[in-house]
Formats: sequence, structure tokens, C-alpha cells
Amino acid sequence: MTSIESHKKAKALKPGSVRPAKELCSECGLCDTYYIHYVKEACAFITQRIDELETTTHNRPRNLEDENELYFGVHQEMMSARKQQPIEGAQWTGIVSSIAIEMLNRGLVEGVVCVQNSKEDRFQPMPIIARTPEEILAAKVNKPTLSPNLSVLEQIEKSGMKRLLVIGVGCQIQALRAVEKKLGLEKLYVLGTPCVDNVTRAGLQKFLETTSRSPQTVVSYEFMQDFRVHFKHEDGSEETVPFFGLKTNVLKDIFAPSCMSCFDYVNSLADIVVGYMGAPYKWQWIVVRNDTGKEMLELVKNQLDTQPVISQGNRKPAVQQSIPAYDQAVTLPMWAAKLMGVVIDKIGPKGLEYARFSIDSHFARNYLYVKRNHGEKLEAHVPEFAKRIVEQYKLPE
Ligand code: FAD
Ligand code: SF4
Ligand code: SF4
Repeated sequence: MTSIESHKKAKALKPGSVRPAKELCSECGLCDTYYIHYVKEACAFITQRIDELETTTHNRPRNLEDENELYFGVHQEMMSARKQQPIEGAQWTGIVSSIAIEMLNRGLVEGVVCVQNSKEDRFQPMPIIARTPEEILAAKVNKPTLSPNLSVLEQIEKSGMKRLLVIGVGCQIQALRAVEKKLGLEKLYVLGTPCVDNVTRAGLQKFLETTSRSPQTVVSYEFMQDFRVHFKHEDGSEETVPFFGLKTNVLKDIFAPSCMSCFDYVNSLADIVVGYMGAPYKWQWIVVRNDTGKEMLELVKNQLDTQPVISQGNRKPAVQQSIPAYDQAVTLPMWAAKLMGVVIDKIGPKGLEYARFSIDSHFARNYLYVKRNHGEKLEAHVPEFAKRIVEQYKLPE
């Protein structure tokens, strides 16, 4: 038996059983397959390896002296973009689904790992290997819950596929990169999205019930650049709730422990990342990390309007204020929250500065969480770039 195959003797864990990362498990799906064999070096919560894997994936380390690389990871270029003809029902304009469809249609890949939802529940993730554009389209829109995308890895090896695209968030992609060479593929493409504040399905229910006027009709939501949560409802209507009016005291515990300990907000190991937070309101934000990512973007360039990224304002006072406010679970009365949202939207950080605002406040919160709850892991678990980002602020004990 070759070393590539030795993992096949390992046994996937049964659903519901305790995972090796215990409470920090983000349910990335690796342990649902025989690749659990590699869990010690692959799991983002057992061995944090972003710095090392960035170098092997992109052929160079992140330049920590360059502010954009410090924050957004290794990259060749960034831009704001939107589809000229948005895909109806996509999370934003559907750039992610469009890249995947184009790759399949042009024969660059034989399958696409993405996540549809179960028949009974639009937010219950159901990872699949899509082999048709219709199957990719059926995976559009965020399932804003932990999703075991890597649970289909065994099927890839069994299917004999040699060229594959995987769509996923940071913790899934770190585990994927760690086992990449064991998958028997000729070429792996990785299309990432940023990710933060994820929740279990039960946590999501609590968030919807606490925050939306009509939780049962929400089809998607996003924490937007205008400092409001935007909910889309089944009837096409939109509801907005200012960040500062969220019931922080109730919501404080809903985020999964994995996501309170996560520092890979920008999906450092993907070939290309498609999000929104570095772009103006209603635009998407693209980070091309390497030549493979560039090749992927070129496939859809003629379907996009693009513009250069911008950066305006000064995030630092707002971040510094957000740290104790979150820690003490302060909630403003709704009228004050709305007013604050309007003021911040007018004078607050925009473009890349907004992205840095979001990264700073989440990293500071997560650093405190790891320090208080898993102090023994702090030094090895927090990547160097995140330590430098957090050092800019005064944190409570
Ligand atoms: P679509 O064409 O609608 O495609 C969405 C794709 O996402 C699908 O292919 C699907 O397979 C995949 N997907 C859906 N849910 C999951 C999941 N749970 N795990 C892995 N893959 C999934 N961007 C930011 O800039 N800032 C953020 O803070 C941010 N937070 C996010 C949090 C979560 C939990 C997720 C899933 C995404 C987040 N994003 C964030 C990315 C952003 O919301 C959009 O997903 C991205 O801009 C792509 O939009 P689209 O219209 O091109 O995607
Ligand atoms: Fe396994 Fe993934 Fe959970 Fe880590 S995060 S224990 S690799 S399922
Ligand atoms: Fe994974 Fe981090 Fe997203 Fe949580 S926030 S699902 S740990 S990438």
C-alpha cells in the first residue's frame, strides 16, 4: 500500500460523536471521511498552519510589512466588481457561482464542491460535488451555518476525478490544503469566501428570532458595509437592523466557539477570494492571490463591471470603542442605534478601511476569547499577522 492510500484504513467518525478538536470543531467535514487520518496536522483548531501553508500554496509568504498583505493575505491584485447581470437569488451578484459554472462549462474541472440546502430547511447545509451548472446554481446563496463541505472528499477519490474546484470558507480550506496532495488530483482550484461569526443551525435560529421581525420568512442576510444587517424576505422585501441595536447580551453566546477562535477571516489559502467587505456598498470585493486565481477570474471578466478598490476614513477610534462595548455586551436603545448607524455610515470607514475595521474588531474579540478560554493555545493558535493586528489596540484583561 502506498503512503497515498494508507489513510483509507482510517474510519470516519459517526455523526454526532465528539470530534478531535472537541468544542472548537467547526464541523468542516474532514472527520466525516477517512482523511481523519491526517486530522492532527490538518485541523485548523488543532494545528494552526496558515503561515506555512501560505508559502507552499502561493510560493511566497505574506509580506507583513505591507499593510494590505498584513490584512488581506498574499495577493496579486484586488478590485471591486459586480455582475452586469446578477444571478437572481445569489448572496450578492453571483460572482462565485458564475466562476464555478464557467470552469465546468469549459472543461477545466470535472466537479465542483459546493453546498446546497436540505429539502426541508433552506439553511441546513448539504455539501455536494456538482457536475452540472444547474447543481452549482442550486448551491447559490450563503448557508449561514457551520457546513461540513469536506465530507464529500471520499467521494472524490472514489469517483476518479482528476480536476476539481472546491468552494469554501477558511477553516475548510486550511484542512483541504493540508490533505491536498493525498487526494490523487492533477489540479485543484480553490475559490474562497471570507467568513466570520458563523453559528450552528440552533444558533442561527436564535439570531433570526432575536433580530428579525419575521424570522420564518428570511431567505438570506448580510452584515453590510452601511453598518446594518440586511434581511431579505420571501416576498422580496428587505428589512434592515443597525449593528449597534443588536441584542448583544442575548447574542453574545450564539457564535460557535470555532468562529470565536478563528483568525482566517480572509481565507488566506484560497487561490481567489470573493467577498464584499473591501468594496463600496452593493459591490463585491475580489482578491486574486496567485496565478491560478487569476486564471479563474479571467473566465468571467467579460461578465463583470469592475473598479479599483478605495480606502477612506479612520477605523481605529471605532474599533477601540467596539472592544469594551462588546465585552460588556452593551446594547443601545433602537433610536440611538439608528442614529449612530447613520452617523457612522456618513463619516465612517469605507472600502478597504471598512474591511480593516471588521477584521480588527473581530480579531480583538477572538484574541480575548482564546486567551480567556484556551489560554494554553494562544501563542501557537494565533498567527503572526493577527498578533500584529491586535497589538494596535488596548484590550481589557
Ligand atoms: P453565490 O453565487 O450566491 O454563491 C455562494 C457560494 O457560497 C455557493 O457556491 C455555496 O456553495 C457557498 N457557501 C454557502 N454557504 C457556505 C458555507 N456555510 N460554507 C462554505 N461555503 C458556503 N464576505 C465578506 O466580505 N465579509 C464577511 O464578513 C463575510 N462573512 C461570511 C460568512 C459566511 C458564513 C459565509 C458563507 C460567507 C461570508 N462572506 C463574507 C462572503 C459573502 O457573504 C458571499 O458569500 C460572497 O461575496 C459570494 O457572493 P456571491 O453572490 O458571489 O455568491
Ligand atoms: Fe475534524 Fe474539521 Fe472538526 Fe477539525 S474542524 S475536528 S478537522 S471536523
Ligand atoms: Fe470556519 Fe472561521 Fe468561518 Fe467559523 S468563522 S466557519 S471557523 S472560517
